[in-house]
Amino acid sequence: MENAPMRILLVEDNQELVSLLLRGLKRSGFSADSVATAGDAAHALATVRYAAVVLDLGLPDQDGLAWLRDVRSRGDSTPILVLTARDGVSDRVTGLRAGADDYLVKPLAMEELVARLRALLRRSNNLLGQCLTLGNVALDTEGRQVTVGGTVRPFSSRETAVLEILLRRCGNVAPKRLFEDHLFGLSDEVGSNAVEVYIHRLRRILADCGATVQVHTVRGVGYMLAEAKGP
Ligand code: CA
Repeated sequence: MENAPMRILLVEDNQELVSLLLRGLKRSGFSADSVATAGDAAHALATVRYAAVVLDLGLPDQDGLAWLRDVRSRGDSTPILVLTARDGVSDRVTGLRAGADDYLVKPLAMEELVARLRALLRRSNNLLGQCLTLGNVALDTEGRQVTVGGTVRPFSSRETAVLEILLRRCGNVAPKRLFEDHLFGLSDEVGSNAVEVYIHRLRRILADCGATVQVHTVRGVGYMLAEAKGP
């Protein structure tokens, strides 16, 4: 089986450290993009599916921890490893509370960063699984394949993305903004009813395939996937 390189987003404004880390990550088999500001990081995260983020806390336009809180408040669970030059236990505790999965204190050793990233990715794969299921619907997140009742169904990539967001929230409401961020990059013009259109399509396909799950609208908030009651 072919393994696509794990794509990492590096958020760091120290260019010297950036080139060092990019070289090290690539040597270790990761592919990596780098951005130097919180604004660019938000844009990158909204447009590309990253396996993990390496986040410097001291960014020029926003505090890294505030950025991290924003990411988590959007329901984005991308694994994030925080790099901090700050001393003291309290910053690290604050970082983890803000939603970081792990942290490293600068100056850091490349081998340790790679080891921590690999551990993080293993954990997140175990946690999220490669197959998300509810009722008779299953989504293989690697192969991007949807099966309903054991039969592979032709879902478009955006329909699959909508379904993935709903499945990952399993039983919780997925805010509308989450769909907008995932479906359309920040640069795209998003029509006011674009998300509704995809939700509508997904509902129709699920019904046509005989799925035992339904997409519910939570007015003013977002959408939720649940098993249908009754036959
Ligand atoms: Ca910095």
